[in-house]
Amino acid sequence: MNVFVTGGAGYIGSVCVEELINAGHKVTVFDNLTEGHRSAVDKRAVFIEGDFADKAKISEAIKGAKPEAVIHFAASALVGESMTNPGKYFKNNVCNGLNLIDAAHENGVKKFVFSSTCATFGPPDTVPMTEDLPQRPINPYGESKLMFEKILKWYHEIHGLEFVAFRYFNAAGASENFGEHHRVETHLIPNILRVALGQAKQCEIFGTDYPTPDGTAIRDYIHIRDLAQAHILAMQPGKQGFFNLGNGDGYSVKQVIETCEKVSGKKLTSVEKPRRAGDPPKLVAAANKAKTELGWKPQFPKLEQIVKTAWDWHVKHPTGYAD
Ligand code: UDP
Repeated sequence: MNVFVTGGAGYIGSVCVEELINAGHKVTVFDNLTEGHRSAVDKRAVFIEGDFADKAKISEAIKGAKPEAVIHFAASALVGESMTNPGKYFKNNVCNGLNLIDAAHENGVKKFVFSSTCATFGPPDTVPMTEDLPQRPINPYGESKLMFEKILKWYHEIHGLEFVAFRYFNAAGASENFGEHHRVETHLIPNILRVALGQAKQCEIFGTDYPTPDGTAIRDYIHIRDLAQAHILAMQPGKQGFFNLGNGDGYSVKQVIETCEKVSGKKLTSVEKPRRAGDPPKLVAAANKAKTELGWKPQFPKLEQIVKTAWDWHVKHPTGYAD
């Protein structure tokens, strides 16, 4: 299939592009490189540098690429930042997303795959979290993604655009070639591994008074290659709807630090900090729907496997894509 990928130079996009091409798809990447890296784009993909704030540019790119499907990774995706700069999130994730979906619709695209997030739910009433739980986001990041989920629902109903929206839980790990390198790193696993690499002094634990067994926040970590495989399955005609993507296992911040110590063989120093604004205490997926409806079978479900691939990539690329 001919696939147009926004954000293909970013962390999740880069691994997904690699796996799409390995699966025989033809890929065009559209990315403005503000968060992504040119060297994170698989050499077998066509690359177009552009910003989807620019409707004319995105329309021209889609017209030229003639894709059957669009996968939309490009977004602002930091909970903490969204609590201080909400406008950036609504503009990028909603307004600019509309430019893309309109350009896709106007150019006859049949399938739209969207990176949504478990942050659309807010603190859940029940865990593990099924797709049908009420969505009550507690940060502008989650709210902006929920707004785009609603746009997708209406474009499907009115224009017949087939869509799959994945609510990612916590993407982590790396492939052989591509890994996680944000210019400003805020994510837990890469931050801990920086300490293990000697690039930072101590791990920071944001919040030790959550209603969880050890007081630190619990998340469901999913391997980036498993996440990518779900996107490939979503390309099948007739697949449609909202899917949660996680492993169904929750790990606390302290457990993640212990796992990183085990994998890296280093004893790490930690410091306790206040909670980070906008963070729910516990987010764990029920991923049965993706398994039964898409045939998704995670290959790397254990946290230790996930951290091991991340560690191997960081050891090989100590300065990320800067090297
Ligand atoms: N976290 C932390 N220290 C860090 C980075 C993150 O304690 O250096 C916590 C964060 O508050 C959250 C969890 O780890 O409870 C996962 O955060 P991350 O930013 O990796 O992903 P998010 O769940 O926000 O998408």
